[in-house]
Amino acid sequence: MATTSLQEQCEESISLLTSRQINFLALDFDLTVIDIHTGGAWQGTAEELATHVRPLFKHLIIAACEANMSVAIVTFSPQVPMIRAVLQLLVPTYSPQIPIRGADRTWVYEGSGSQEGKQAHMASAVEEILSMRETTITRRSTLLIDDDANNIKVALSEGVRAIWLNPRDEGRLLGNIKELLE
Ligand SMILES: [Mg+2]
Repeated sequence: MATTSLQEQCEESISLLTSRQINFLALDFDLTVIDIHTGGAWQGTAEELATHVRPLFKHLIIAACEANMSVAIVTFSPQVPMIRAVLQLLVPTYSPQIPIRGADRTWVYEGSGSQEGKQAHMASAVEEILSMRETTITRRSTLLIDDDANNIKVALSEGVRAIWLNPRDEGRLLGNIKELLE
């Protein structure tokens, strides 16, 4: 039997998500998209940080964008320009359509939704996405992936779909996506 490449596995997971009307992927950065925690104080270059991007997430982001899903980075890190530079290196074509919401005080979410966990980050990112493209994003059409269990707990309690990423075992993510939707 031919082995399926990581790219193909990610494309399969994304098509599973879109088949269940999930059209917005909200991704944590530290210990999720990348395999280290920068503490919001990365001193190296974007090129160096980009070497820490998990291949799984590179493929997921590309597959999601190709499938016309919306993608955002939702992080407590204040280093938004650094994360933007990593996205430019990683997915230059799609970077401009991926909002980043971090702790850089450049945005305020004034809606009535929860301010806990990553809720305000996601709500604000959705506002930007809606200004860029015609789409409808709801809590049920959103999937948050984050290694911080508290953010997952808050999202789930708010009716947002969410999957905890085990930072030491990211390979389980695709299986968990499948389980979530079964
Ligand atoms: Mg994290």
